[in-house]
Amino acid sequence: MSVHQRIQSENPTALRPASPPRAAPLVSVRGLTKTYETPAGVFHALRGVDLDVSSGEFVSVVGRSGCGKSTLVNMITGLDRPTSGEVAVGGVDLIAMSESERSRWRGSNLGIVFQFFQLLPMLTLLQNVMLPMDLANYLPLDHRPARARQLLDAVGLAAVADEPPGSVSGGQQQCAAVARALATDPPLMVADEPTGNLDSSSAERILTLFDALHREGKTIIMVTHDPQMAARASRRLTMNDGWIVADDLL
Ligand code: ADP
Ligand code: MG
Repeated sequence: MSVHQRIQSENPTALRPASPPRAAPLVSVRGLTKTYETPAGVFHALRGVDLDVSSGEFVSVVGRSGCGKSTLVNMITGLDRPTSGEVAVGGVDLIAMSESERSRWRGSNLGIVFQFFQLLPMLTLLQNVMLPMDLANYLPLDHRPARARQLLDAVGLAAVADEPPGSVSGGQQQCAAVARALATDPPLMVADEPTGNLDSSSAERILTLFDALHREGKTIIMVTHDPQMAARASRRLTMNDGWIVADDLL
C-alpha cells in the first residue's frame, strides 16, 4: 500500500480539498472608492466596494438615483478611474493600464450599451455594428459585413440594416446598440439603464434579448432602476449611498 493509499484508507477525507476548486471570477473588484471634491466638500460616490462576478452570470444593479450604480460600472468598463481600489476583468488589471491600452482592451473584451444608444447618426445600422470590428481589427475585412448582418438579424433588424439610426424607433436603435456591443464577441456586456429611454414593449424586447444572451453563456451586468427588469437577472445587487447593501441570487 502506498503512503497515499494508506493516508486515504485511514482518513478518507484527508486528501480531499475543503471545497471544489472555483474558477477565477470574470470581474473582480476590491476596496473600490470614488471621491469627488465639490464646492460643498468631499463627496463619496463609492465607499469601498468588493464584488466578484463569475462568467455566465446575469447581474442587475439597482438602487435609487445617485447611489453610485453608473460610477461602479464605469470602473468595470474602465471608462472612469477609481480614487482607490482594484478592478480586474478576465484577470487583467484595469487600473495599471494606460488610457490607450485600456481603450484597445475594451474594444475586444467588452460590449457596452448606453441609455441613449450612442449610435453614429451618419452611418447605417450595419456600419455602426461593423465599427467595433474595424477598430479592434476583428475578423478579416471582407467577413465583417456578413457578421454585422447576422447580428442585426439576430436582434430582429435584418429589414432595416441599411437604414440610419434616425429612421428607426428607439427600441430598434437599442437593439442595434446591443448588436454593436456583441460585434467582437466580448465575454462581458455592460449595460447602464439600457431600457431607461424605451417604452415598455421595447424594454421587453431588450430584456428578452438579454435573457437569450445569458442562456448562451454571455456574462451581463445591467444597471436599472426598474425592479421588474432587475428581477429578470440571475443575481441582483442593491446599492445605497456608495455601498452594495444587498446581493441576492434570483
Ligand atoms: P447612479 O448611476 O446610481 O444614479 P452615479 O453613479 O451616476 O449614480 O452618481 C453617484 C453620485 O456621484 C451622485 O450623487 C452624483 O451626483 C455624484 N457624481 C457623479 N459624478 C460626479 C462629478 N463629476 N462630480 C461630483 N459628483 C459626481
Ligand atoms: Mg446612473
